[in-house]
Amino acid sequence: MQQHIHEGRCDCGHIHYRMIDQPLIVHACHCRACQRQTGSTNAVNVLIEKHKVELLSGEVTEQIVPTPTGYGQQITRCAKCKTVVWSEYLIFAERRGAPVRFIRAGTLDDPGAFPPDVHIFTSTRQPHLNLSGDVPVYPEFYDIKEVWSAESYERFRKMKRENGRRLITTTDGSSVSI
Ligand SMILES: [Zn+2]
Ligand SMILES: [Zn+2]
Repeated sequence: MQQHIHEGRCDCGHIHYRMIDQPLIVHACHCRACQRQTGSTNAVNVLIEKHKVELLSGEVTEQIVPTPTGYGQQITRCAKCKTVVWSEYLIFAERRGAPVRFIRAGTLDDPGAFPPDVHIFTSTRQPHLNLSGDVPVYPEFYDIKEVWSAESYERFRKMKRENGRRLITTTDGSSVSI
């Protein structure tokens, strides 16, 4: 397990966090929102189960901004320096039933540990970027089942099972999960 722990921080060092498993997948996202939010050509997002990101110290602020899907994106920043450390696209939790956190790769202590597995929303990529390598390119989004590794897809299914589970109290007072 130890080798799976990666730590990260905001620019001022107030926020310190760690991820306790390998990513599900790493996106290079070339959508216009990521370009504007990062002021760059694209965001590199390390996707991992929400509960596998631990805030070790510091205070965050959260803000929900609209997205084209209508579900919104919750952006988490350092309360002091306002660096974005991660975000969540609420479509994952609310429609897909799987709360996934998108860590901004540049905030990791070793950002080069997770190169992109896939380029997405390349229909709006900056034309000077050469994406002719081996990494798959999708003009918009993709089918998770086709693109994620079998192991990651199983983790996705597990998240959905756990997220969808409800505790109910039966007439004899005991709790069961359904
Ligand atoms: Zn900070
Ligand atoms: Zn994006």
